[in-house]
Amino acid sequence: MLARQSARNSVDAQALVSVTVFMVTKVIDAPPGGATTKAPTTVTVARMETDAGPQAPGELELVRAFVNTLDVEDGVEALAGPADLDAWARERGCPPPGAAAADLARVLELREALRSLLLAHHDGAAADVGALGVVDDAMSWGVVRPSLAAGGLTWRAAGHGVPGLVGRLMSAVSAAVVDGTWSRLKVCGNDTCRWAFYDHSRSRTGRWCSMKVCGNRAKQQKFKQALRD
Ligand SMILES: [Zn+2]
Repeated sequence: MLARQSARNSVDAQALVSVTVFMVTKVIDAPPGGATTKAPTTVTVARMETDAGPQAPGELELVRAFVNTLDVEDGVEALAGPADLDAWARERGCPPPGAAAADLARVLELREALRSLLLAHHDGAAADVGALGVVDDAMSWGVVRPSLAAGGLTWRAAGHGVPGLVGRLMSAVSAAVVDGTWSRLKVCGNDTCRWAFYDHSRSRTGRWCSMKVCGNRAKQQKFKQALRD
């Protein structure tokens, strides 16, 4: 995901330029004597905005990472072949599934269906029926078993190969639906980004993968719009 990191750095630089423009505007608008104290405050706040830690808790992070195996913005596909899926699973502590090409195609279909469901987590939008169907099918494709533990009902993945890996993903989804964290897993509201992130905000209204990247892009657009109006 180096390409994405490079894009983030580039956007950060653009954001800084935007902040500088904003500062100059404030200097012009501010009354005499007030400009020098107002402008630096604006810059400090903008530079302190950090990524809100978009990783998901527990096993749900596996789902977030899975969705992000495609970097939509840069067109970087981490699962181009079955061997890539094996490598990704290994990195995540899962047994390599040894997928056939047809299995991989289905796995990628599941990933994009999940992305669609995560987009619907904004503003309580209705989930796409087709995407729901794909994820529902995956609940049967993967081996997912309910398990009673001290904390209540949980789900465990069983089985081997691709069903084992899909089962692990679906058990994480099932647990998140039950414990209420599922709706916090979202993809970025920026059409060109769609990076999966976990919304840690108290209000559950987070829209961007990162305030430093897409949050700033949205601010810049808003600012440009305000200048035009
Ligand atoms: Zn984004």
